[in-house]
Amino acid sequence: MVSSKKVCVIGGGMSGLASARELLREGHDVTVMEQIGGVGGQWLYDPRTDAGDPLGTAGVHSSMYTSVRLISPREMTCFSDFPFFPKNDGTGDARRYPGHAEFLRYIRDFCEAFGLMDVVRLNAKVLHVGLAAPHAAGDGDGNGIKRWKVSWSRHGDCDGEVVTTEEVFDAIVVAVGQYTQPRLPSINGMDKWSRRQLHSHSYRVPDSFHGEVVVVVGFHESGKDIAQELCNVAREVHVSVKSMDGLTPAVSKAVARHHNLHLHLQEGNPCSIVHSESDPGNVMFADGACVVADSIIYCTGYDLSLPFLDTGGLVTVDGDRFGPLFEHTFPPALAPTLSFVGMLRLVMVPRFYEAQGRWVAQVLSGRRQLPSSEEMMRSAEEYDRAREACPSCRLELDYCDVFGAKHCDFPPVEQWKMELLSSAFARVRDGDVESYCDSYHDSDLVREGLRSEGWLPRTP
Ligand SMILES: Cc1cc2nc3c(=O)[nH]c(=O)nc-3n(C[C@H](O)[C@H](O)[C@H](O)COP(=O)(O)OP(=O)(O)OC[C@H]3O[C@@H](n4cnc5c(N)ncnc54)[C@H](O)[C@@H]3O)c2cc1C
Repeated sequence: MVSSKKVCVIGGGMSGLASARELLREGHDVTVMEQIGGVGGQWLYDPRTDAGDPLGTAGVHSSMYTSVRLISPREMTCFSDFPFFPKNDGTGDARRYPGHAEFLRYIRDFCEAFGLMDVVRLNAKVLHVGLAAPHAAGDGDGNGIKRWKVSWSRHGDCDGEVVTTEEVFDAIVVAVGQYTQPRLPSINGMDKWSRRQLHSHSYRVPDSFHGEVVVVVGFHESGKDIAQELCNVAREVHVSVKSMDGLTPAVSKAVARHHNLHLHLQEGNPCSIVHSESDPGNVMFADGACVVADSIIYCTGYDLSLPFLDTGGLVTVDGDRFGPLFEHTFPPALAPTLSFVGMLRLVMVPRFYEAQGRWVAQVLSGRRQLPSSEEMMRSAEEYDRAREACPSCRLELDYCDVFGAKHCDFPPVEQWKMELLSSAFARVRDGDVESYCDSYHDSDLVREGLRSEGWLPRTP
């Protein structure tokens, strides 16, 4: 028998909204708690920068900088049944790889199309989630099933007043994202550096780095973007690079083009800050180079952070790892009433969130069964061991299809979209970093696919 549950989704970003839609479709009673004044999560650009806490979060959720554009084509970066078409009135950003504001517009349109704002509570920050008393015996609704007490706050009508409320839910979906809490490297002398240092979470625009010598630590997505952007305004940009493996042909071309961009291999140590009275900005790199820098930007990634969640140690968070989780979604000892959506990196977004949300919704309604907790635990441990053995191993490109087919009959990605994505990745690797987003040539299969979905006019 299919049953409806009272479900609290924590987070009004893409994964929370994807989950909310699936839960509503399955007939659940849904509340989305969103701590800030709008939906969209990371895509709700926040111009506030360091606010006096340049190495922390400073109470700001989004880590978006002004120049962020989608890293994957818009035709792929959308919900399975809600294409990310440009606005047909000519407003907005019609590019295949649009900027962050256009993607926020799409998320808002998605909310409107599926009536999600009716179930979203804005400015509702979840402070604590812990187990509540289970249903009483004989109440006919899963005797002994775990329920959750959620404590959340909202600014009241009077100035500065914060109202805290407690509410009990049958199930919790945690969808708070993973790119907010700065992960900092351990660098000799960092604590004594008196010039500017910040994490990329607090970087927004390059203007204030004009004429400076800037050290960028880390060369993944944000490090690459920010270093290249700074080359146009800074005197010198020195990047501390963990490994030359990431030096794709595209990156080599960019390095060759910018005479003021210098890469330094870390060899174990990102760099050290050397203190001297005469030159207070000395930064020494592992390759022996030494520069006098004005600013250091740590593009060193993000840790997971779930400060509100009290599971009595059944789910633990350690840096960017947490678990145990069965299929990246259910903690075996607390399933199915506690689940996580959107906590796996390097997956097809937002499709994967959609599939996860659908699975959670169907398990909660009773339409699908989970294996025993012992079996789920074995599977979670197996995954953790494999990841331990190969931290850099990535999931296959078709992982979303495999997951969706296995758990919730989620439709596979069309072949032309997979081809579009693979060719986009190839251009990121081999093309020109600064122009790959704007110059592309589609295959016949892709063009036919674009036509079939209404992206191109149909041929007569
Ligand atoms: C600079 C940058 C560029 C990126 N570029 C891309 C890209 O091109 N393509 C791509 O697919 N992905 C990109 N990402 C990843 C991006 O984060 C995901 O696409 C997406 O935003 C994840 O959605 P989410 O809902 O899981 O998390 P988020 O977007 O982070 O949303 C989480 C929400 O939870 C809320 N929340 C957190 N804690 C609480 C609480 N205690 N109570 C209530 N609400 C809470 C937050 O306010 C937020 O609204 C990028 C990320 C960054 C930082």
